[in-house]
Amino acid sequence: MLIKLTEYEKNIQQKIIKLKMESGSHSPSIFTIAEKLPELKINIDSCFLSNPYATALFLRHVKEDLIDTQKLRSILEFYPSQNNVISKIVGDFIGINADNMFIGNGAIEIIQAVMHNFVGSKIVINIPTFSSYYEFAKESTKVVYYQLSKENNYMLDLDDYINFIKLEKPDSIVLINPNNPDGGYISYEKLKFLLKELYFVKNIIIDESFIHFAFEDLEYNQINIEFLFKEFDNLIFIKSMSKDFGIAGIRVGYGIMSKDKVQKLLYNGYLWNSSGFAEYFLRLYTNKDFFDEYNKIRIGYIKETQDFFNSLGAIEQFKVYPSKTNFALVEILDGTSSEDFVSKMLIKYGIYMRTCKDKIGLNGEFVRIASRTFDENEIVIKSIHNAFKE
Ligand SMILES: *Cc1c(COP(=O)(O)O)cnc(C)c1O
Repeated sequence: MLIKLTEYEKNIQQKIIKLKMESGSHSPSIFTIAEKLPELKINIDSCFLSNPYATALFLRHVKEDLIDTQKLRSILEFYPSQNNVISKIVGDFIGINADNMFIGNGAIEIIQAVMHNFVGSKIVINIPTFSSYYEFAKESTKVVYYQLSKENNYMLDLDDYINFIKLEKPDSIVLINPNNPDGGYISYEKLKFLLKELYFVKNIIIDESFIHFAFEDLEYNQINIEFLFKEFDNLIFIKSMSKDFGIAGIRVGYGIMSKDKVQKLLYNGYLWNSSGFAEYFLRLYTNKDFFDEYNKIRIGYIKETQDFFNSLGAIEQFKVYPSKTNFALVEILDGTSSEDFVSKMLIKYGIYMRTCKDKIGLNGEFVRIASRTFDENEIVIKSIHNAFKE
């Protein structure tokens, strides 16, 4: 049945919409909501796109390495290493020359740096997308949108896209792989073909922030697209660690780009742009034992996530778009507005989800639902069934 809000729920919905407007194109955090709307009880955050099991793993290491040993003090008291020192540690681990590595205070800082320093007069951005790419474009940069087609489930049509870029001749393009908000994935082979065809584009930005959740084989082996950098030096990779490692609060990410680009950025600043915690995390990340532990958790989470998507897909009011990451784009087909659905889930069931009302390039009633722990996902599925039964 169509989801309808009570007067009380409508009243709270207005307050939520107002809060959302105040936080721009990113959703207000659950902390902000809890503070501003104490009448709401949020039990599950299906808005935030992180692996909760990885956060637990990291916390365990923080406790053992820093808190129990009292090394926490030195992380707070001293300066972290400089950007180029941390670059070398990470570069050695991932097999990329340190001269090509740039450490950022979150991927968002790298996006900003790239948009402001290297993107020229024209960039092509695929929509729907992560808003920062067009929001951080300089005034002198013309943003041209390439609409991913709904009929093709928002997956990139390679030939059509390549023709579009050959016609538009931008100096820069952005590919988010897998894409946010739909989870569409471009396979390694397709990506390589695309890069060969588009050799003439000066900057090809690949945001691989969700790549750890993607897979191409039945063993869910991790996909490495970073090695393509050795073949194509017009590539700029941007990697957030916030979602796959569940550590958005630390603010850490890295970029891979040509040496002259790294030098230009470091010449301009960014000397101590990451924190002691970020350095601690990156050193841990490059530790083989930690990485093996993380990898097990990563694979377990992918399996649970794909099961969760299947359960979502079985809900008759939903169309779930194929996703190779840890969130799914869901279209509500029975006429319920996405705003009412999300409000009902939050107010009545304590589950926080994201409407996609503000996403350009999406036409319909869309929500984005993130996969959380197994138990939480079960509650989410039950609650959605109940909401439609009411
Ligand atoms: C979340 C997100 C980012 C930003 O990540 P931070 O490292 O937390 O700044 C960048 N790109 C995409 C596609 C994202 O979804």
